[in-house]
Amino acid sequence: MATLLLADHHEDHLGDATAKALTAAIQIGGPVHILVAGTSPKGAAAEAARLEGVEKVLVASGEIYGHGLAEPFAELLVGLMGAYDALVASSSTTGKNILPRVAALLDVMQISDISKVDGPDTFERPVYAGNAIQTVKSTDAKKIVTVRTAAFAATGEGGSAAVEDISAAGDPGLSRFVGEELTRSDRPELGSAKIIVSGGRALGSAEKFKEVIEPLADQLGAAIGASRAAVDAGYAPNDQQVGQTGKVVAPDLYVALGISGAIQHLAGMKDSKVIVAINKDDEAPIFQVADYGLVADLFTAVPELISELAKT
Ligand code: FAD
Repeated sequence: MATLLLADHHEDHLGDATAKALTAAIQIGGPVHILVAGTSPKGAAAEAARLEGVEKVLVASGEIYGHGLAEPFAELLVGLMGAYDALVASSSTTGKNILPRVAALLDVMQISDISKVDGPDTFERPVYAGNAIQTVKSTDAKKIVTVRTAAFAATGEGGSAAVEDISAAGDPGLSRFVGEELTRSDRPELGSAKIIVSGGRALGSAEKFKEVIEPLADQLGAAIGASRAAVDAGYAPNDQQVGQTGKVVAPDLYVALGISGAIQHLAGMKDSKVIVAINKDDEAPIFQVADYGLVADLFTAVPELISELAKT
């Protein structure tokens, strides 16, 4: 059994997701090789080589890998899969974009968003917004697996894997990069933040969302999240949505402000280590998952919290 892990990297730095997906890859079966592909991925490849449990890092350099286009990545991966029994990637936008195409080209089923590895061919994954856990046993010769990284701890550092340059595959010419609009922020990235402050419909407007959520997030050095109701109402941008149809997060601390705790929201944050909720309705479902709950009006409680934090 040999497993290939597709690295998630940004601007030549490996994302946290790779070290977490690596834990799943090792459990599926070693030796584990990591593929780092990009315009100039040497820095990310060096970081990958230091991860514990990696035997080899494959580096494919080329302009065609600069923007995560599924078609050239799939061409490269399908060419490599002759030597591997399993291909693993995190359930990030990159993994979700590329792996289905690889699975289709190999004519196998993709196993999506696993939260546990029971064996080399058996996996657990949440379904129905996390209300049930499905156990999937694959009979395909090649396993194509995306990993819910919030469910796995990151591997440590201390490895010294060999780094090998490999040739870029041809560009199938099915897609081309046109442009992108990136949100630049000094805040931690939502998917990997240690602390998240999230706001819900109760905030009432984009101005109030900014006015109430941002100072607390600044105080805590936190990323900002939002419920879908807040996003749909235009209080917060789409990329801040947490939940079944947003990001799945598992920070050390998740602060839910004016969020009712619908199952679709819980599906994205209930694995957080400590959950703090402020809601004026003492029967709000968020209190069923909260470690600390405060029944209060957030517009008075949050400023008080900020001023108390400022004293520490
Ligand atoms: P509400 O449910 O309206 O809750 C607002 C809360 O604020 C209430 O509990 C209220 O008591 C409290 N409140 C009001 N005023 C105050 C105040 N002044 N101080 C303190 N508390 C106050 N939702 C997601 O979040 N993420 C998803 O990814 C997602 N995906 C979905 C996918 C599908 C297929 C469907 C059907 C729904 C999905 N939803 C998702 C929507 C979800 O069902 C809920 O509608 C949504 O989470 C509700 O957002 P909310 O808690 O902000 O709003």
